[in-house]
Amino acid sequence: MSSIKIGVLGIQGDIEENILSTEETLKNQNLQGTVESVRYSESIAELDGLILPGGESTVIGNLLSIQGKVFQTIEKRITEGMPVLGTCAGLIMLSKRAYDKVVGETKQKLFGMLDVVIERNAFGRQHESFEVDLEIPILGKDLFRGIFIRAPIINNVGENVSILTKLNGKIVAVKQNNIIGTSFHPELSADRRLHELFIKDILEFSKN
Ligand code: GLN
Repeated sequence: MSSIKIGVLGIQGDIEENILSTEETLKNQNLQGTVESVRYSESIAELDGLILPGGESTVIGNLLSIQGKVFQTIEKRITEGMPVLGTCAGLIMLSKRAYDKVVGETKQKLFGMLDVVIERNAFGRQHESFEVDLEIPILGKDLFRGIFIRAPIINNVGENVSILTKLNGKIVAVKQNNIIGTSFHPELSADRRLHELFIKDILEFSKN
């Protein structure tokens, strides 16, 4: 394939960091492609892959639902098999249900294709932000530096969901077919192996 088109949902959150880290991955792999902030249906309809960045999932959900067709277009593309990488708030957006550790049910707007239940802000105040080395077997033997910022954890995974890694027994990364979700922020560490996994899915998807 000639050139791949990756979008980063440009509503709220760490959009620029996601663009830069993905551009770097394409360059390292000698792949032709573009990475751009997207927020309109027309541009999302043309993508080969989409990143839902970290930020504040309630804000992203609210802003998205007042933007006409964007919400439905994203749902449709993911259902069609377009690869998507959701980190932190992006992971929450993909889940079928989310509740907050302190305030309980949040009744927020979610895409809902990822068959997991999310506990938001699950690491509590003392551990709002931290870094830790994770074992992620699908990425090889070397540990992966996970950067967690007011991170969620993943519960009740459905049978089509593979668990990629756990931290202290809690699931913090999963894959369900074309969907990758992480509680941590791979765009903020120097390791590009998760992006490579995402891009591998994109190359597979765009062959068809
Ligand atoms: N706590 C945020 C939320 O619940 C997620 C934090 C993040 O994306 N770094 O939406």
